[in-house]
Amino acid sequence: MTSDILIIGGGPVGATLALALKNYGLRVTVLEARHPGAGARDARTLALSEGSRLILSRLGVWSQLAPRATSINTIHISQRGRLGQTVLRAAEEGQEALGYVLPYADLSAALDDALVAAEDTRIEFGVRATALETSADKVTVTVEQHGATKQFSTRLAVIADGGRSMDALPGMKRETREYGHTALVGHVECALPHGNIAYERFTPQGPVALLPEGATGFALVWTAKPEEAERLMQLPEPQFLAELHGYFGDRVGEFHAITGRATFPLRLVTLRPVTAPRVVAIGNAAQTLHPVAGQGFNLGLRDAWQLALIARETAAELIGGADMLRCYQGKRRMDTGGGIFFTDFLVRVFSNDLPGWGMVRGAGLALLDMCAPARHFVSRKMSFGAKG
Ligand SMILES: Cc1cc2nc3c(=O)[nH]c(=O)nc-3n(C[C@H](O)[C@H](O)[C@H](O)COP(=O)(O)OP(=O)(O)OC[C@H]3O[C@@H](n4cnc5c(N)ncnc54)[C@H](O)[C@@H]3O)c2cc1C
Repeated sequence: MTSDILIIGGGPVGATLALALKNYGLRVTVLEARHPGAGARDARTLALSEGSRLILSRLGVWSQLAPRATSINTIHISQRGRLGQTVLRAAEEGQEALGYVLPYADLSAALDDALVAAEDTRIEFGVRATALETSADKVTVTVEQHGATKQFSTRLAVIADGGRSMDALPGMKRETREYGHTALVGHVECALPHGNIAYERFTPQGPVALLPEGATGFALVWTAKPEEAERLMQLPEPQFLAELHGYFGDRVGEFHAITGRATFPLRLVTLRPVTAPRVVAIGNAAQTLHPVAGQGFNLGLRDAWQLALIARETAAELIGGADMLRCYQGKRRMDTGGGIFFTDFLVRVFSNDLPGWGMVRGAGLALLDMCAPARHFVSRKMSFGAKG
């Protein structure tokens, strides 16, 4: 047995799990296909919930991230060309912030550093897992490294590959729903200060989000049909900014510059169940969501945290056993089910131009804005998950 727990994928979710298992006497190995620091090329910007900040603080990485994070104090939700809006405020929730905006690259670099520094965790970069084979008491993981093939054996294999590479195992079913959406991301500078306000604006073509990023400017997530996103990618900067202004409206004034344009195809992918004998999938490997509500990483982080809590309380020889995996599934069912439902609901209900729906959505947003307990409920779930 080369380890008690072997984590396939040292992305934000896999790395969080490994750090949460540090100093508990378990032999933990992380296999990561990319090289250290290569996460810096990822153009995504993430909105982290207050719950995620608390987890990263407990792991000792938040202090390194805090100077790069921009807090969200207000979230403004509206729909294009229609009445009705909702405003969520941190002050009303008794929180310092509703969330924090952070480049994926910074998060990935801080977690890489922490993993390399963790004495009792083995991290191997440049190692790609290619196959899993389970038996009664162990999992054998085949990997490729520098063109050679190696094998590791472990009591529990955790798939945290972002759903990017490993096939679903027998008994696990992967379902995909195509939204016909691509996200165009980038950093925009604009005329007015961001005031730590995040904007989510729904349109029939898909949502547009502006997340406050840095001292000035916003991280843009513009969802559109794939061919439209491709056209926007190719537009010269002045035309792109003019179209964004026409699309988003005047709330933040004129847009002055855009940098780092990149696109990501969007779909809902769910794996059910998320466990197989001696195997568990977490993070995007278990559920890949539309970024409309900024829930994907936050949900994955709670997967990692919950799995670590259970593993810490399980005797080493029982790690990966049926009881442990049943316990994990039971504890995560409500939160992941809620996150998937909420995100899918927003995409389906808010991204269409079916007759009459605009008014219904507007009334819904206005009602939410008038009802403090309902706003509190939404803020709480977005910050800390379905279990609050
Ligand atoms: C445009 C966009 C915006 C988003 N915004 C938000 C947001 O605001 N808030 C939020 O919470 N979420 C957001 N998300 C979702 C978030 O990015 C993901 O949920 C999160 O990155 C998932 O982390 P992960 O570690 O599970 O997977 P990944 O980030 O995909 O990491 C997987 C890791 O596994 C490694 N790997 C893959 N295959 C193998 C293999 N075979 N062997 C070894 N290693 C392997 C990869 O190199 C990678 O490092 C957004 C997503 C997109 C596309």
